[in-house]
Amino acid sequence: MDCLFCKLVAREIPADIVFEDDDVIAFRDIAPQAPTHILIIPKRHISTLNDLTEEDCALVGRLQFTAQKIAKEVGIADDGYRVVMNCNEDGGQTVYHIHMHLLGGRGMAWPPG
Ligand code: 5GP
Ligand code: ZN
Repeated sequence: MDCLFCKLVAREIPADIVFEDDDVIAFRDIAPQAPTHILIIPKRHISTLNDLTEEDCALVGRLQFTAQKIAKEVGIADDGYRVVMNCNEDGGQTVYHIHMHLLGGRGMAWPPG
């Protein structure tokens, strides 16, 4: 499969991995938009949020809970952070393997652009 993040999961391309378990892997974004910018992804390929099924509900919860764990570990939990998942073109998705952005270490504007 020609998917960047599947290749990253398979260790075919390098990544600065900060967390891994059987289902999830998290690594630093190559072009960070904040002092902390980590991507949390399922190891299994799912192209977009539109492709989630009811069976994936626990997996999505696992992504969110992993974000919380990492936020606490890197020390941004108390000041605050943002999690974002982009879907398709209007959502700003550029890599078609779902991923949760964990952003922190600076104040965030709202609404986003
Ligand atoms: P999206 O725009 O799809 O929501 O987010 C994709 C993210 O993946 C972007 O923030 C981009 O910087 C990041 N990214 C793209 N290619 C790579 C890569 O090869 N390694 C890492 N670590 N991040 C990447
Ligand atoms: Zn993939």
